[in-house]
Amino acid sequence: MIKEDIEAIKILLASPKKIVITTHRNPDGDAMGSTLGLYHFLLQKGHQPTVISPNEFPDFLQWLPGTENVTVFERENDTAVKLLKDAEIIFTLDFNTLSRTGDPMQSVLENLEKTYIMIDHHQKPDDYAQYTFSDTNYGSTCEMIYHFIHQLGEGNTINKTIATCLYTGIVTDSGSFRYPSTTGTTHRIVADFIDIGIDNSKIHGMLFDNNSENRIHILARALQNMKVLPKYKTSYSYLSQEELSELGHSKGDTEGVVNYGLSIKDIVFTAFFTENKDEGIIKISFRSKDGFDVNQYAREYFNGGGHINAAGGRSTESLESTIQKFIATLANIKID
Ligand code: 5GP
Ligand code: MN
Repeated sequence: MIKEDIEAIKILLASPKKIVITTHRNPDGDAMGSTLGLYHFLLQKGHQPTVISPNEFPDFLQWLPGTENVTVFERENDTAVKLLKDAEIIFTLDFNTLSRTGDPMQSVLENLEKTYIMIDHHQKPDDYAQYTFSDTNYGSTCEMIYHFIHQLGEGNTINKTIATCLYTGIVTDSGSFRYPSTTGTTHRIVADFIDIGIDNSKIHGMLFDNNSENRIHILARALQNMKVLPKYKTSYSYLSQEELSELGHSKGDTEGVVNYGLSIKDIVFTAFFTENKDEGIIKISFRSKDGFDVNQYAREYFNGGGHINAAGGRSTESLESTIQKFIATLANIKID
């Protein structure tokens, strides 16, 4: 974050404040890790922080310290709206356009006159925030929160609780340190966390070896549905609402399934379609290797966005026609 902004934020945080920290709809490990990491930091500094998640967060993140105090906008609407109206500062983490919170939270945020602070690593940030720390070079928002706390001159407040939260987002958004955004600094931060005393092996196990039986059956079905299109170096898979319901789906169960499509030899582009009848949309996850920019692809064809190698989008057409549209786009794009 630029020095002027840090100095202004230092002044803002010099006296106790009512602060809301929020993130995108369907929060992932980085969204929950960064909001809760910042929450524990602000609590320690004498503020009154609250984390608001637009909707329910997945079961596999329930163990994170502080989740019992998270307000879920969709379920606790009145409380959440009051917290937002009373807040003096609103941190928006791991997203950069208010539409990522979904309706009706988006319109509440748009109509508030507040000091917004954005910390995020996605492309093309909107300019709703007074203070913006936006940089796509970082592999996770959690890594940015680490730097933000250090820039405030508060590095020594990072204890085991904060480090546990931040480690969670660093691990999940880096695909366990294998994506190209993983740097020497990423590893040095993690080394710092291990020295502080986080149980890195246990956290990894809680994140990745903590599947419900249903989740494994859902993965199995998605793998069965996988189609490979060697001509386009592309694969895709899908789950219909009927399949999800039959397999006893719960929130977060399809997280990470998309990555299997890229684990096939010579495949550089993959998509995973999930039908959500409640929301009337097909949610799409895109992943790529190397130079193929799925952020641009998702923006151009599926009303979405994200990063170069990981993006998401949506469609309001049927599952079948969404997949047909996807296949039709492949002839128009250059994948190599
Ligand atoms: P996922 O496939 O895991 O849902 O999302 C992959 C990445 O793309 C995440 O970093 C996520 O924040 C971003 N993303 C997912 N859906 C959307 C969307 O509809 N719009 C934008 N701008 N980004 C998205
Ligand atoms: Mn992230």
